[in-house]
Amino acid sequence: MIKIRSGVGYDIHRLVPGDGLMLGGVKVSTVVRAEAHSDGDVLVHSLIDALLGAVAGPDIGELFPDTDPALKGASGAALIAQVRGMLAARGFEIINVDCVVVTEEPRIAPFKAEIVRTVSGLLGIPAEDFNLKGKTKEKLDAVGRGEAIECFSIAMVRYNGSFQDK
Ligand SMILES: [Zn+2]
Repeated sequence: MIKIRSGVGYDIHRLVPGDGLMLGGVKVSTVVRAEAHSDGDVLVHSLIDALLGAVAGPDIGELFPDTDPALKGASGAALIAQVRGMLAARGFEIINVDCVVVTEEPRIAPFKAEIVRTVSGLLGIPAEDFNLKGKTKEKLDAVGRGEAIECFSIAMVRYNGSFQDK
């Protein structure tokens, strides 16, 4: 039986002075970094939560607790690989993912092509099935003051029936 399901994801990280901000596995700044136990990749964390939501799995905090020393500095690529495995084991494949990154600095546009290439590669989907948009917050709130970066994601998946129905 084929089922189509969607999931929504959100993440936010505080920005602090530092030597690199990772976004979709790509270093997009050399003057700030995200405060986090992992590498603080807000785009990856958000899209993972969307994918986990679509398959009614655990949320990212349950799957990758920030108290786990093994996850200190964990890269987005490593987390995505685990989530891909979980989706496949449950009989799901990704149809598409759409993400909105909200930040004042750095601007996303110069890195967009590289991020799309990197993330679609990590997800194992064609580049046209991963979409990324960059927005600013018009100087409003913590994100608008440059104190944080946030990302919203939606994922659509297809259950291809290769896993026993619950
Ligand atoms: Zn995060």
